[in-house]
Amino acid sequence: MPIRPRVDAKTARRTMAEIAPRYSKQEARVEAERCLYCFDAPCIQSCPTGIDVPAFIQKIAAGSLTGAARTILEANVLGSSCARACPTQVLCEGACVLLDRDEQPIKIGRLQRYATDHVFDNDITVLSAAAEKSGKRVVLIGAGPASLGCAAELARLGHETVVYEKRLLAGGLNTYGIAYYKMKPEVSLAEVELVRSLGVEFREGVEVGRDVSMDTLREQFDAVFIGTGLGGTHRLGIPGEELPEVVDALSFIEEIRTSPLDEVAVGDRVAVIGCGNTAIDAITQAKRLGASTAFIVYRRGADDMSAYEFEYALAKADGGEFMFHRQPVAILGGPHVTGLRVAETQLDAEGRTVLVPGTETDLAVDMVIEALGQSKMKEVLLAWLPALELDARGAIVRDFDTGATNVDGVY
Ligand code: SF4
Repeated sequence: MPIRPRVDAKTARRTMAEIAPRYSKQEARVEAERCLYCFDAPCIQSCPTGIDVPAFIQKIAAGSLTGAARTILEANVLGSSCARACPTQVLCEGACVLLDRDEQPIKIGRLQRYATDHVFDNDITVLSAAAEKSGKRVVLIGAGPASLGCAAELARLGHETVVYEKRLLAGGLNTYGIAYYKMKPEVSLAEVELVRSLGVEFREGVEVGRDVSMDTLREQFDAVFIGTGLGGTHRLGIPGEELPEVVDALSFIEEIRTSPLDEVAVGDRVAVIGCGNTAIDAITQAKRLGASTAFIVYRRGADDMSAYEFEYALAKADGGEFMFHRQPVAILGGPHVTGLRVAETQLDAEGRTVLVPGTETDLAVDMVIEALGQSKMKEVLLAWLPALELDARGAIVRDFDTGATNVDGVY
């Protein structure tokens, strides 16, 4: 049977509602006043963007939400989406000194969201482009979080900045690839508008290499920033993968973010292959959109999965099941998926995962979601810039401090 939508709009609104809703004024004040405003605060050190956490929390406690948002957004223009999507439990909140006292850490993410929502909801301007222009022009390829952050910084330094994006909407993973219950697409698009308001020009629907060449861009601009992220998703490479109910996790998540929730087709029994954070986003949303059973199939054990512990706990709380030390060997059915054949795995003497002969079993499923990670964009990058130095994994080799690659003017 083909898969179909399983929840009505009202149910979807409830099951897919944000898991960390906005604080009330009273809640935010109480939480902010718990903060010790530490000197040399570890929460700042553990924030990849170095937001001055105690400073913005102190401003919330003092009632200055605009000031708090300015502190956040000056350090990180994507502070609103980071407040929702960052793994704060292992970053700023994981470093909070209150944990040493066996107290709950300050809910930094939710306070950050509270402050940034204030300026977005009320159209308050807290960032502006430099009044004096540098006369330099920079082009950024890809409009995901890396380019947005970079473009905003460049605009604030007075550089003319243009972002090329092959898709019709900017924002990259924040727009298309985050679980809906963590962050709605509108939050990402509002951040794009904030960056645009700094004078950054976006050329959406234009693909470098197809619509404009890298050589042309290098001629027209003083510097090129490559912010393309990762490429295609890995596949299982097993029989039955061509059946229509076999999808990759990012496509499934994108459909949820670009379609009415009550029109997203989901299986009744869903198998998710892989055990990273994207796999968790897939299984939780499959359950929330009406799958009666959803389970993860992972070829290694719980200690080996790359998903964060809190994501694992969330999936289990949503009713997701985990099947460790199993590997899919075939997807069954035709013309529609009816099952998944898995075999047990073990480690060989060299630590590689191998199948255990004679252990195959068939599981009844009607949808398979592959969450096997993404490949590097090695071929695309070398087609653009044949001299670009890549490492053995296909990542761009660059100076750690400046971001400069081995190609002059390319970062
Ligand atoms: Fe506040 Fe915790 Fe950061 Fe200290 S470590 S400033 S208590 S959030």
